[in-house]
Amino acid sequence: MNLVLMGLPGAGKGTQAEQIVEKYGVPHISTGDMFRAAMKEGTELGLKAKSFMDKGELVPDEVTIGIVRERLSKEDCEQGFLLDGFPRTVPQAEALETLLEELNKKIDYVININVDKSILMERLTGRRICKDCGSTYHLVFNPPAKEGVCDRCCGELYQRADDNAETVQNRLDVNIKQQEPLLTFYEAKGYLRTIDGQQDIEKVFADIEELLRVIR
Ligand SMILES: [Zn+2]
Repeated sequence: MNLVLMGLPGAGKGTQAEQIVEKYGVPHISTGDMFRAAMKEGTELGLKAKSFMDKGELVPDEVTIGIVRERLSKEDCEQGFLLDGFPRTVPQAEALETLLEELNKKIDYVININVDKSILMERLTGRRICKDCGSTYHLVFNPPAKEGVCDRCCGELYQRADDNAETVQNRLDVNIKQQEPLLTFYEAKGYLRTIDGQQDIEKVFADIEELLRVIR
């Protein structure tokens, strides 16, 4: 079961990844974890990646792909893997194809958890935080009893700058632009499966299970 998981911020990718890992026992391979592990182990590529990150520079693809290669070659990936956060670009996706071919593996599905931008906006801009006690609320999913007031301490609720509409919209637009060519690439390869991420969390996972039944 070799999977790539895709989805925009707020689409619920993290939650679904957790459930996939729990049910199917495949390792969850996120780019961040992979980099951290390689740096901690002090592998040659890990140290190389660190030297770029320390300078605040992007890690070049050849280093990233080398780290992915090391990770996917490990024993725990023999029965499958769930890639999350990689690939991010078409050249990375092409490199992944070559790498998997060398390892005698193949992607089964690229699962894209699809949610309309307007709904992502609602999800991502709804967070409110109490100025006094730090409790967090969400205007849609976990609203306070009285608007703008903390249930616990009656403190005033505010919105973090990261959560404001303009910032969120920019972040989404950047991600959408980055994701589009990748979706086209995987569609053409026949790997892409789109899951409706606007349903309840349980229903989203049920759809993923249905999809994975075929390769189990
Ligand atoms: Zn409070």
